Amino acid sequence: MKHFKFEEFRCRCCGGLPLLARANIESLVDNVLDPAREQFGGPVSVNSGYRCPKHNLEVGGVVNSQHIKGEAADITAGSPEENKRLAEILEQNGNYDQMIKYLNKDGGIRFIHVSWKRFGPNRKQRLISKI
Ligand SMILES: [Zn+2]
Repeated sequence: MKHFKFEEFRCRCCGGLPLLARANIESLVDNVLDPAREQFGGPVSVNSGYRCPKHNLEVGGVVNSQHIKGEAADITAGSPEENKRLAEILEQNGNYDQMIKYLNKDGGIRFIHVSWKRFGPNRKQRLISKI
């Protein structure tokens, strides 16, 4: 946990971050987010980290969303161009279970969903979703 704080990953509705989710977030940061942030060289913010099941439903997350386990985060580096560079770094590093690029109507990357399973296996699955 070098470039990120647990506070950034708390549930947006209730501030929750259960112990198990906290351990998973720490693994996500150490293996995926911190190395990418280091290479990116600029600020990366967390739009959504851990979600309690209620909040996950409210924001339309899938029932088995990795956000509920603290295995996933939605991150942004700011502009679509910066997000593109951040996504390329994540892809090159190859450390992720699932990575979903959420695109604006014009094709720019609005944010990146990235997940990591602490005890594996990590699928290295890449998807694109249009908002
Ligand atoms: Zn909540």
